[in-house]
Amino acid sequence: MAPGAAQQRSELRCPVCALSDFPDAESLSRHADGHFSNGGGSNEEGDRLLARELQREERAAREADERREFERLRAEYGMNGRGSYDRQMGEGMERAVRRGHMSSVEYHEKRVKFDS
Ligand SMILES: [Zn+2]
Repeated sequence: MAPGAAQQRSELRCPVCALSDFPDAESLSRHADGHFSNGGGSNEEGDRLLARELQREERAAREADERREFERLRAEYGMNGRGSYDRQMGEGMERAVRRGHMSSVEYHEKRVKFDS
């Protein structure tokens, strides 16, 4: 058997259950379709996973925003010397909390990160 043929055969793997015993692409496709058309249950599960994935992406985006804001505050308030840097940073963040730009939980998380 040619090496190329063996390689092609190994690619016939179901992405859902990882079953790989398929004689050709068409039978794999038929088998895979079965996973998605068997009732709404598995689709609901897929939707839930997708929703969770989106939530995670949203959170990651928000954390990236917070990091940028953190850097911005640090650039704005953290100028000279470690001592005044700490104090100014704290005041800057407290202002941000008061303005509602930062929840107090986030504030304390940042303080912890900042102090460590
Ligand atoms: Zn399968």
